[in-house]
Amino acid sequence: MPAGRRLSRLGFLDTNKCRVEAKCRSKRFAKKQQDTGSAYPLGSPCLSSRQREEWELSIVNDLTACLAGDRAERCQRFVDRVAEAASRPAAAVTAEVATFLAGDFVGGRQPAVERLAAIDPEAYGRTRNDLAGAVTRLSPWLRHGVLSLAEVRDAALARVREPAHAGKLISELGWRDYWQRVGAARPEAIWHELEEPAAQARGGSALRSVGAGLPADIASAQTGMACIDAFSRQLTETGWLHNHARMWLASWLVHVRHVPWQVGAAWFLEHLLDADPASNNFSWQWVAGTFSSKPYIFNRDNLERFTGGTFCSTCPELGHCDVEGGYEELSARLFASVGERTERLVIPPSLPWHADPPSGKPLVWLSLDALAATAPARQRHPDALAVCVLDADWLREERPAPKRLAFIADCLADIPGVEVWLGDAAAVLAKRAAAVGASHICVTATACPRVRKTAAALAETLPVVPIDWPPFCDASRVKDLGRFSRYWNKVSKSALQPTAC
Ligand SMILES: Cc1cc2nc3c(=O)[nH]c(=O)nc-3n(C[C@H](O)[C@H](O)[C@H](O)COP(=O)(O)OP(=O)(O)OC[C@H]3O[C@@H](n4cnc5c(N)ncnc54)[C@H](O)[C@@H]3O)c2cc1C
Repeated sequence: MPAGRRLSRLGFLDTNKCRVEAKCRSKRFAKKQQDTGSAYPLGSPCLSSRQREEWELSIVNDLTACLAGDRAERCQRFVDRVAEAASRPAAAVTAEVATFLAGDFVGGRQPAVERLAAIDPEAYGRTRNDLAGAVTRLSPWLRHGVLSLAEVRDAALARVREPAHAGKLISELGWRDYWQRVGAARPEAIWHELEEPAAQARGGSALRSVGAGLPADIASAQTGMACIDAFSRQLTETGWLHNHARMWLASWLVHVRHVPWQVGAAWFLEHLLDADPASNNFSWQWVAGTFSSKPYIFNRDNLERFTGGTFCSTCPELGHCDVEGGYEELSARLFASVGERTERLVIPPSLPWHADPPSGKPLVWLSLDALAATAPARQRHPDALAVCVLDADWLREERPAPKRLAFIADCLADIPGVEVWLGDAAAVLAKRAAAVGASHICVTATACPRVRKTAAALAETLPVVPIDWPPFCDASRVKDLGRFSRYWNKVSKSALQPTAC
């Protein structure tokens, strides 16, 4: 069955035609609701069959009730409903949710605050490259706006005597800020190469195409390389990997196995709890050498050094694996040529997203970048209707794994009064705004191209007002995002300052 039909059967408003129809119908229904004063007209004798269908559809797509109950119950119920729409086998979903519930990533504000209180910026600076180093593991909460970059920076500064002692952690937070800015400036580059590859791989026509997908031995962790198999298992089972493991895994896929970076990026986006198109895809491009001065490669010495030798000592490939040898030797084995870049990549930042709020009642839209009661739009309007929509296009394109959906369910269950829907975000938001008589939509500002696109579609009929996060840095002097170093050079001084009270 074609995807479009399957999704329609499940109640998504997923085609352009449906979107337009839904917008018109939502206006008619809001009017009807105002006229009858009824909040729930299903069963009313004056409804036509089409109107009835619309209301039934609304009920099918309203996930709010799934969030009731204890944690295990609600995660399972919520994920079952969403995963059904993403056509995932039920047994696999149940097993994955059980593994997630037994793990130590719990969505929501309190677990985030507790983890933030435990960070050690000085130990981070010394050990962050070690697999067992003092990294924060805060990424799932940062990605979903349960914590902000400024808040983590402030917490880091509060734990050190000199701001410079938190410098390494703050510069890593800077990478997140940087990738988001690049994503806002060049949204099309999330899936397209920003630069010509810095190196030509050996292999010519034998290289894999995007259509060939992820090789089965990598997906099932049966490559025979102890490190790669362990990383693959950790990714698919837990949804989190250390930064160095992500770099090694990405490098091996792209440069040794010739898997196109887009295929690896899609695999990560599916499984990571912190899956973020900008951070993820631009990191893949950085490894691949399509957004950096040279491709990233690693050898066995490097892996052994930062893993304490755990993998190599038991690896059947020890002594003849793909990454044996010095860097020059390895580079010559992998690449037919590695070129010096002659052109400087210049990326002008996008214009700030701004709109003045009109008078009247807002509806708060909780995007995936702001899943917390503390996110700025919700904080500004704590009494307004707050709506989160799991977007049909997002589910179809990124296929978020059950563990990520369970993390999202945790976050949503922690936001008092939120309504959660499944469908076309613009259509659902327009419908809910009309139903409650909202004059505009208020959303926490984000660089996410998907949110910006939905906001642009909504803005044709309803004003959308972004509310900014407290700033992480002063980027007013940044004119070029072509390289992190150029950006960091302009903003690092301000990023090392705590938020002004
Ligand atoms: C191939 C690849 C894919 C990646 N995909 C993602 C992704 O989808 N989502 C994501 O948030 N990060 C991604 N990263 C960046 C980084 O690996 C993770 O943010 C980090 O490992 C998360 O663990 P942590 O919270 O302990 O990070 P820490 O090292 O403790 O850093 C603190 C925070 O800073 C930010 N951060 C640190 N390093 C980076 C970085 N290099 N790029 C962007 N932000 C950073 C994260 O928000 C992180 O939570 C990717 C890196 C690579 C190499």
